[in-house]
Amino acid sequence: MFSRNNLCRHPGLHRRYHEMRPETREPDERLDALPRLGQPGSRFFDPVVSPMADAAFSILERSYPPLAGRPVGERGPGDPEVLARGVEMLARRYGAVDVGVARTAPHHWYSHAGRHAEGWGEPIEPDHPTAIVLVVAMDFHTIRMAPSAPVLAESSRQYVEAAKIAHVVAEYLALAGHEARAHVDGRYQVLCAPLAQDAGLGHVGRIGILMHRRYGPCVRLSVVTTTAELPLTTGDHRYMEDFCRICGKCADNCPSRSIAHGGPPVSRGFAHWSVDQESCYAFWRRTGTDCSVCIASCPFTKPDSAIHRLIRAAIRRNPLNRRLALLGDDLFYGRKLRLRPENPDLDELASRWKIPV
Ligand code: SF4
Ligand code: SF4
Repeated sequence: MFSRNNLCRHPGLHRRYHEMRPETREPDERLDALPRLGQPGSRFFDPVVSPMADAAFSILERSYPPLAGRPVGERGPGDPEVLARGVEMLARRYGAVDVGVARTAPHHWYSHAGRHAEGWGEPIEPDHPTAIVLVVAMDFHTIRMAPSAPVLAESSRQYVEAAKIAHVVAEYLALAGHEARAHVDGRYQVLCAPLAQDAGLGHVGRIGILMHRRYGPCVRLSVVTTTAELPLTTGDHRYMEDFCRICGKCADNCPSRSIAHGGPPVSRGFAHWSVDQESCYAFWRRTGTDCSVCIASCPFTKPDSAIHRLIRAAIRRNPLNRRLALLGDDLFYGRKLRLRPENPDLDELASRWKIPV
């Protein structure tokens, strides 16, 4: 969706894309008539908060090409176990809440570059055997303000944090003599969610994004691919998919009805859930934020407190506990999320963000 959306800045490429995918021309024309994301004219535009996201995305855009990438020395540990330990310590020190390592496979890579005019349509070479997945957590209380302006400020902030960590980790690996590439917002050559699942960090659920083992879908991801062979991490979180089958809370709450009820449909040859990207993104453009109502309403989106750790351990154990946990979530948090009718005022937001006034 973002690649298609970006093409409207490049009419020649847009025309070529619509010749290849004529079914996308009409929805794209409808999208073009809506305000750009987070701009004046959208429902939750706020002249103070909305440009915070613009600033974050602009910095992300300008962080590429990064300085790191090619091996520049042999200053790191040669032992893969020790190198992996250094990577994890570095990533966590910079703010990652979780780090995993997976072996890359062909299905983890995009086939062609599509987001930017430069190199558009060129095939992507799956050239690195190892992927380090970096997880940052979004602020639970801000995401519960969905779909108002602060959610976009928060998600863009965490895209910047995830990118910062990925760039530093890539530089660290380059110093140790390995090729490394940071995959950050707008510059992914790999799909983060399946890599995170294969690294044992969580499971892809009904919303089609990663549900992290501690923070649920309330996270942002970046990846560093590298030629370094590092020990892999593992974890089986299929119980989350079982939970999705009985839950469906995101589907009940989605304001644009972009999330399917029922079991995962078969598409592209395998059973998996994914949201209707066109209707979801059209809602974002009308709203002026990245909505996040599905993330806010998900029972796995909770602070990482002792009580929620206990409930997650129970959910993991058996189907009966999953039903009881869902019942409890509906009772305590409500089946339907109360949507914010308007943006919070700056004093409320400052207090949420713990900013002294
Ligand atoms: S972001 Fe909003 S519109 Fe999109 S799928 Fe989630 S709830 Fe629905
Ligand atoms: S709200 Fe329920 S169905 Fe949707 S992703 Fe979360 S656990 Fe799965």
